[in-house]
Amino acid sequence: MLIGAMNHPRARVADEIESIAALGLDFVDLTLEPPAAASWRVDPQAIRAALEKHHLPVVGHTAFYLPMGSAIEELRQAAVCELQRCLQVFSIVGARWMNVHPDRYAPMHDRQFFIRQNLRSFEELLPEAHRLGVGIMIENLPGDYNSARQLGDLLDPIPELGLHLDIGHANLQAPHNTTEEILEKYGTRLRHVHLHDNKGGFEDLHLPLGTGTLDLRRAIRALQQCRYDGTITLEVFSPDRHYLTYSRDVLRRLWDELPL
Ligand SMILES: [Zn+2]
Repeated sequence: MLIGAMNHPRARVADEIESIAALGLDFVDLTLEPPAAASWRVDPQAIRAALEKHHLPVVGHTAFYLPMGSAIEELRQAAVCELQRCLQVFSIVGARWMNVHPDRYAPMHDRQFFIRQNLRSFEELLPEAHRLGVGIMIENLPGDYNSARQLGDLLDPIPELGLHLDIGHANLQAPHNTTEEILEKYGTRLRHVHLHDNKGGFEDLHLPLGTGTLDLRRAIRALQQCRYDGTITLEVFSPDRHYLTYSRDVLRRLWDELPL
């Protein structure tokens, strides 16, 4: 199992890679988002060289607000265009998987409509993803894509989509953490994990591990039960990076402690 962190989209990517390496983390969750890490602004060759210098693997992450389910066709196409550009960058930097946040912002339309629009966008992205050798995985989001049934609306029609499980999100807007039910149904498709704490309810606080209500042991047990041994990004957002290394130590200790 590898533990990594994400670059801050306001900071220079090269500096962020240096700092993630200096913390002794295992990989970079590279988010391509403006202002400083925009897909059209970064230098993919330089990123690749920086990652190689530190022997850091990389996972692809994209902006969480792309209108890939929009009712306005030109906006939907613009989202597909941006995601295609991200695929190209990720193939150069060496990422095997790119995350996508399914969209749900289509006021005056029902769920079926925005599900259909998302599926159209995925179908348009997949040929480019194949050509470049980068898989696409979807991240669970509180509200509309946070249970096995809700995720199934996208995962069932397109079997090659991977699952990117955000265990912090699974703790939000739900009567119980949905990690186990999602993994029970789609654990074999799990490709990447995000981990951070919160206090349930509606606020996506991205706290250090152990400071919210998330049952970390239970979540780790669920991952290990489906034989997951891949990348886990600590999405712990604080200007003080000690919270990141603290969370890394907590995760590593529990992961190694729990018997399979
Ligand atoms: Zn996440």
